[in-house]
Amino acid sequence: MSTEPNLRINPLSEWGMPVRKKFLIAGPCSVESEEQILETAVQLSAYEVTAIRGGIWKPRTRPGSFEGVGARGLRWLKQAGNAVGLPVATEAAKSSHVEECLKAGVDILWIGARTTTNPFAVQEIADALRGVDIPVMIKNPMNPDLELWIGAIERINKAGISKIMAVHRGFSTYREHLYRNRPIWRIPIELRRRLPDLPLICDPSHICGTRNYIMALAQQAIDFLFDGLMIEVHCAPPASLSDARQQLTPLQYGRLINKLRYVSSDGPARLPEEIKLLRKQIDAIDNDMIHFWPNEWNVSGT
Ligand code: PEP
Ligand code: MN
Repeated sequence: MSTEPNLRINPLSEWGMPVRKKFLIAGPCSVESEEQILETAVQLSAYEVTAIRGGIWKPRTRPGSFEGVGARGLRWLKQAGNAVGLPVATEAAKSSHVEECLKAGVDILWIGARTTTNPFAVQEIADALRGVDIPVMIKNPMNPDLELWIGAIERINKAGISKIMAVHRGFSTYREHLYRNRPIWRIPIELRRRLPDLPLICDPSHICGTRNYIMALAQQAIDFLFDGLMIEVHCAPPASLSDARQQLTPLQYGRLINKLRYVSSDGPARLPEEIKLLRKQIDAIDNDMIHFWPNEWNVSGT
């Protein structure tokens, strides 16, 4: 039996970052060079964007792939953010990453899906964050396990971090699937039901794995009233050293953001009423089934 987590969470409005309609974080999968991250940030700044992302240490499935430029890239990332006046974010997977990021003045950390899957790793990060006031984004674990996701959120919150955001990036599957990581929407939706104050955004790039469906996925997340998006954007996607197929150009990003349709302003207010109506319909069907099945199956043997 899972217990309801008791968290102290700051709403997005208290993060000190200007969020217009949605929290939009964009940037390359990996920081590759000083020029690449600067060029991407400058081009991105022509569009609506809240923060610039860029991976410094990359968790690769097989050894021998590009594993990130390492700590020297933190200065390039921070410089790029300063050049466009935006906060920067990167992934921290262990305590030494946290220390390097804090030293370099990184504004937001995120915990990647592989790390969220491992409570020892999350606890190590939480311990390194004790006494620090920095926003932390927590991606869902690789496997569809809501308790594991909530556990990671709790560990970081217990360390005193109150600016926490959950990121839905889909779930790993064995069999070939339309998506790189399946978006099992009922899991983030259940997370929102359990932790209604926790900001929740979607990463359609890692869900899709290719550019093709990112727009549709992003729109779906907005329709589900997610608080924002994390999207991989590179100044020259074909040349990128990781996740080349799923990165957008800044121009494609701008088009996507401008195409997004938001629910009407009375949407969130209307939604509970619609849910109540659906609940009634489901209850009626449940009732019918309960009264219909025993007779039909003759389970009592009478
Ligand atoms: C990333 O965002 O760069 C990343 C590695 O994502 P994930 O942890 O979702 O795989
Ligand atoms: Mn990536």
